[in-house]
Amino acid sequence: MEIYADYHTHSEYSHGRGSILGNLRAAERRGLKAVAITDHGPATAFGLGVPDEETLLKIKDRLRSLAPHFPGLRILAGVEANVVSLEGDLDVSDEVLGQLDIVLVGLHPTVYPRTLRDAAGLIGLNAVSRYLKEVRRLARVLNTRALTRAVERHRIDIITHPGWKLAVDTRALARVCAARGTALEINAAHGFLTREFVRVAAAEGVRFAIGSDAHTPARVGRLEAGVAVAESVGLKPEQIINAEVPYPRGW
Ligand SMILES: [Zn+2]
Ligand SMILES: [Zn+2]
Repeated sequence: MEIYADYHTHSEYSHGRGSILGNLRAAERRGLKAVAITDHGPATAFGLGVPDEETLLKIKDRLRSLAPHFPGLRILAGVEANVVSLEGDLDVSDEVLGQLDIVLVGLHPTVYPRTLRDAAGLIGLNAVSRYLKEVRRLARVLNTRALTRAVERHRIDIITHPGWKLAVDTRALARVCAARGTALEINAAHGFLTREFVRVAAAEGVRFAIGSDAHTPARVGRLEAGVAVAESVGLKPEQIINAEVPYPRGW
């Protein structure tokens, strides 16, 4: 399976350790045809996100000025936004999202939620859910609700690492994503997206994106682990938005 794009990379503007130029060079070296810079949204705790949403537009400007140096590479300015409420609010405004080329959204355990109630739902329950079965069940319900509401309310291209650290109802999420044209990520950096998850999600007709989640240029385009999961489940290239298909889509 040939993957031509890496739609999930971070730079020093958020939690990554390399420059965006470093990510572009790495993508070119790996022979990718497209790469996205998708730094963490501003609600990421401990200063691991971009300082504010305007920074995302600054990154976009910088990418536009670098693009002429990479004629063979399609460069996308994006974000990995956070869900900050149980109603699916994001930490980036729709106005800014609308100016970006690609929008990724993920649930992260280290996020500043918007209200106390959302904090209890998204963080508190997840924190104690390790110990209590009932709480675990409820946390899963609330995680799923927050994510599906986000997908329904915003134009989201990819949900990153679904199920990582924060449990979700795969079938329910995949169904909403399939209806909205949102892809689920097979994350090549974390080994948590199980074959079972992909199998259940694929049955709902959702499409997938294989992402590196690179936090250094050296990891950009390192998608082997994700490809291995996809192939072991028997996914076809047309089920993966960044896979090369042997004939035109829709043929
Ligand atoms: Zn993430
Ligand atoms: Zn990420």
